[in-house]
Parts: sequence; structure tokens; C-alpha cells
Amino acid sequence: MEGKRIYLSSPTMHGEEQAFIKEAFDTNWVAPLGPNVNAFEKEMADYVKIPYASALSAGTAAIHLALKILGVGQGDIVFAPTLTFSATCNPIVYEKAVPVFIDSEMDTWNMDPIALEKAFEKYPNPKAVIVVHLYGTPAKLDEIMEICAAHQVPLIEDAAESLGSTYKGQYTGTFGKIGIYSFNGNKIITTSGGGMLVAWEEEITKKATFLATQARDPARHYQHSQIGYNYRMSNITAGIGRGQLLHLEEHKARKKEIYRQYKEAFADIAEAALNPLNKEGDANCWLTGMKIDKSCHITPDMVMDALAEYNIETRPVWKPMHLQPVFADCDFITVNGSKAREGDLPSVAQEVFDRGLCLPSDIKNTAEDMELIIRIVRKCFGRM
Ligand SMILES: *Cc1c(COP(=O)(O)O)cnc(C)c1O
Repeated sequence: MEGKRIYLSSPTMHGEEQAFIKEAFDTNWVAPLGPNVNAFEKEMADYVKIPYASALSAGTAAIHLALKILGVGQGDIVFAPTLTFSATCNPIVYEKAVPVFIDSEMDTWNMDPIALEKAFEKYPNPKAVIVVHLYGTPAKLDEIMEICAAHQVPLIEDAAESLGSTYKGQYTGTFGKIGIYSFNGNKIITTSGGGMLVAWEEEITKKATFLATQARDPARHYQHSQIGYNYRMSNITAGIGRGQLLHLEEHKARKKEIYRQYKEAFADIAEAALNPLNKEGDANCWLTGMKIDKSCHITPDMVMDALAEYNIETRPVWKPMHLQPVFADCDFITVNGSKAREGDLPSVAQEVFDRGLCLPSDIKNTAEDMELIIRIVRKCFGRM
């Protein structure tokens, strides 16, 4: 293994981040509150064009509080996509609620509205639906929102991977009752770690901030009528976020360019395709994925191994939640049935997992890096 490492998606800092942090130090705002926190909330809300935001310690914390605010509790059912990162679903279990996993569709790899309808047939009264925009590609939001509205169930948008993506011109994260973003280290912008909860109603973000700061009642003495959390974003972290947000558009443009380059470079490889983009949307292309036909003898592992030889980082597609040991008892719904009834079910999500991988999508990749990656992948498919 020679030479430098090429990353899947690593932080890209620009300098303004340090200026905001320096200001925080100079004014001694080194706390889980302060001017950067307030400003970052306002700047994020302005960017995605929603009135209210609450800055939190992680995207996972934001999902947890979203569920709490919607009253999700013991025994409640929550629908979530099976093809996602476990952080989407873990908070359901924190509240002793029951996740029911929904299969993906092939057009965007996201929650299949037809399978979602099936889930409502079997479980008519879930407490909430969580939708994810995988790798930055918006889900079929019109269909999903219509189904949720018809059943009067609130939608939580896990837009952790899709900050900056739009669907019919509107930013993902602003369609549901509550939206969440993540600023973890490999996301399109990062604060090292952090999250944001956004909403159209001030009551919701107020409640989030209240719960995130130990649920202290408005009294001089420390009084608590509810269980709280220590989930607030720090003023230092928020400073990084403010600096990063100035470059979100640039990061998105670069990520889209990476996707475009791969698309062009692999256009003649009929046995593999990139992750599909929603035609109604403008994806941030956080990660470029690839899916290899079932009939092709090349496996994702072979491609990942070939790239690893050159110190190039890749990642498998998220392993579906319904295949995870920790969620073995949970039901899973496809357009063709339910795991609880039929046992193992063939699914779109499993096919994407079995035949998919994520290609290096780091915005610091040079033209030479891209050339090298492309040459290695093409070689795997016997193209020179
Ligand atoms: C990263 C991610 C999260 C979790 O965000 P953290 O800030 O790491 O807690 C949640 N959902 C999805 C889909 C993610 O990719």
C-alpha cells in the first residue's frame, strides 16, 4: 500500500471555522449555549427556508427528541426505512417503541410508498413515520406525504445525509412535521459531531431545546417535571458549523461533479449503475453509490478490495435493519408481504445491499485521484 489515502468522505475545513471558534474563546463562550449556537440555528433555518431550528449534540439526539415531541412511547409503532444507518432507528427503541421496517424502491433506493401503504394495512395506527433520503437522494416525498396525511400520522424527515438536497425546489428536512440534520465527521458539512432539529412550529423547536437542556422548569430553584437530556450543541461546535455552512453550496457542487464524473466514466459498463437520483429532486450527492447486476460475476467486495489495494476507502451500502441481529424480532414490510407472516422475504433493500457499494466521494479528491479510482473500477469490469 503506497502513497496517500483517498477517502470516502472526510471533513473539509476552510478557515472561517477557526475564526468563529477564536471569537468564542476570546469572549469565553465555551459552553453548550452562546452566540454561535443562536446564530448557527438562524443561519441553518434561513438556508433551508424554515422558520425554526434547535442545535443539538448529534443527529441521533435530534431523532430521539423528534420522537419524544411526537409523543412516541412504550409499545407505539414507528415506520422506518429498512435501508438506512442504524441511527435512524435506535431512538425508536430508546423510547421502548417498536420499529416496523419498510422496503425500498429501485427508483431512489428510499422508502417504497407502495410498501408503506401495505404497512398501514397491517398496522393502521403507527405513532410516526420516519423517512430517510439515502446518500442525499430525496425519497418519493409527494407519495409518502400523501399517505401520511391520509392516515393523519406525522412524518419525521431524517435528512442527515441530504442537507442541501431539494425536492421540487424545496429543501429536504422541511417537508415533515420535524426534520433533522447531522454534522458528523463524514457528512456534507461537519462540526466534528452535531445535529439540528427543524420545524415549522416554534413550539416544537422550543420543546426540543428545553428537553436538550435537562428539562428545567422556569423557576429559580432547579425544578423538573419531565426527564431531560444533555443534548445541546456547544458554542465551539456551532462555530465550526457556521464556518462550514458558508461552503455548503460549494461542497454540494463538488459532490455533484464527482457523481457526474463517475456517471460519464462508467457509462459503457452496462452491468453496473450508479445510485439512482430522484428526477423530481436535486441531490447533494453526498455519496456516490454503485449497484452491480445480480447476473454479473463481479461482486461489490471485488471492487472494494481492488480499490483497497491502492489505499482507497469505500463502504458497503448500509446493511438493512431487518437483517440486523438487534432488530431480528421486528416486522418488515415489502410490496409482497410481511416478514412476520412469511419469514425471509426477498427485498429491494437486500438486493441493493448485496450488490451495492459506495465509491470515494471526498470533495478533496484531485483529478488524478478520480482518474485512478475510475481506472481501477473499470479494470474490475474488464474495461481498460
Ligand atoms: C449520520 C446519520 C445519522 C446520525 O447522525 P449523528 O449526527 O451521527 O448522530 C442518522 N441518520 C442517518 C441516515 C445518518 O446517515
